[in-house]
Amino acid sequence: MDSCDVLIVGGGPAGSSCAWGLRESGLDTLVIDRCTFPRNKLCGGWITPLVFEALEIDPESYAPGRVLQRITGFRLSSIEERQVDIRYGRTISYGILRCEFDEYLLRRCGARIQEGVRFNSIQRSRDGWIVNGEIKTRLVVGAGGHFCPVSHFLGNKVSSPSVVAREIEFEMGDAEAASSSVAGELPELYFCRDMRGYGWCFRKQDVLTVGIGRIDNHGLSQHCDEFLRFLKQSRNVEVPGKGILGHAYRLFGHSQRAILDNSILLVGDAAGLAYPESGEGIRPAIESGLIAAHSIVSAEGDYSSARLELYRELLNTRLGHKRNALGTLAQFIPQSVREICGRFLLRNRWFCRNVVLDRWFLRADERPLVFASEMVSPPAATTA
Ligand SMILES: Cc1cc2nc3c(=O)[nH]c(=O)nc-3n(C[C@H](O)[C@H](O)[C@H](O)COP(=O)(O)OP(=O)(O)OC[C@H]3O[C@@H](n4cnc5c(N)ncnc54)[C@H](O)[C@@H]3O)c2cc1C
Repeated sequence: MDSCDVLIVGGGPAGSSCAWGLRESGLDTLVIDRCTFPRNKLCGGWITPLVFEALEIDPESYAPGRVLQRITGFRLSSIEERQVDIRYGRTISYGILRCEFDEYLLRRCGARIQEGVRFNSIQRSRDGWIVNGEIKTRLVVGAGGHFCPVSHFLGNKVSSPSVVAREIEFEMGDAEAASSSVAGELPELYFCRDMRGYGWCFRKQDVLTVGIGRIDNHGLSQHCDEFLRFLKQSRNVEVPGKGILGHAYRLFGHSQRAILDNSILLVGDAAGLAYPESGEGIRPAIESGLIAAHSIVSAEGDYSSARLELYRELLNTRLGHKRNALGTLAQFIPQSVREICGRFLLRNRWFCRNVVLDRWFLRADERPLVFASEMVSPPAATTA
């Protein structure tokens, strides 16, 4: 029987970041993933600079041999309306390919890695868990994404996700890449007329990612077809007939989820942590992995749920809802008025830059994740 101190189920950004956060802890950490990396993950691949900062990665050292698209602005509109270009004149985000990015994070995480190993079963043992009948561990971290079996074990349901999405990513041919008017540094966002989601057309060097995500899971295919027709007509973007895939995930604060129990923690999509305003899930996944690692080390071998509560406290402090006056107000506005207001506001340059981008998408006022006393004061148990 294999044994470890911490078993991380899932080697995506959440799992590999948790492992990386534990690399100097002296804990024997094992990551298992059902896939062999590089593996793909349906995703736009847009990341904000705080992702690199949190993991102490210099973008210059990541770039060689990989796709790293610098983003200096966004092009916004609601579908069929005039586009508003917001340019910052500096790098405000990056575009990556998940097959490359996730493998890079996993290989540098410093833990033991077992690929092609699926989590199948879990049983309590005297001092922790036995997973798959063959791995003995003190603590399990569930990092298996939206369908994470560890999250399911804690009683969380995967039904009624808060975001449903469809997307395709493909390499453009030479002629198409040369003639395309889609600029890598200026991803295009198209808000649905009912303001219940948005489509994206995002070029990362010669790779194009086109998709749509909505908080309403009715008629997604129809919305997607309409969006693709619109892109063809307005931007001459031709998407291959086959290869559009669907996926779902949860937004932070949209439902009550169990995120910890005795000797068990959930991170990333398994805990349902994506930012509700933009759907960005990679940064919350990475930061939750790091916060989990910090909480595990702080627990000093006592993995009772009471001791692991630090994780919930730190997570809520980092991700917790800011008072969003616009969002609160919007709840009381009838749908038809919301649609008209949304279309009107998205024609306004000030609103696009200051609210949609700086506040909702880029979260420009946030600072890098640090485990300093300013972030939260640890509960008494960790200082005893
Ligand atoms: C269409 C779409 C577009 C998106 N675009 C963006 C974007 O542009 N930017 C952004 O920030 N976020 C985006 N997101 C959200 C983002 O992809 C997720 O929030 C992020 O991948 C969460 O990372 P994670 O590590 O929690 O989970 P994942 O990346 O899903 O990793 C989970 C890992 O667990 C493994 N696993 C699953 N089950 C098992 C099992 N039984 N046993 C062992 N291993 C298992 C999987 O193989 C996988 O490697 C998008 C999501 C979708 C659906």
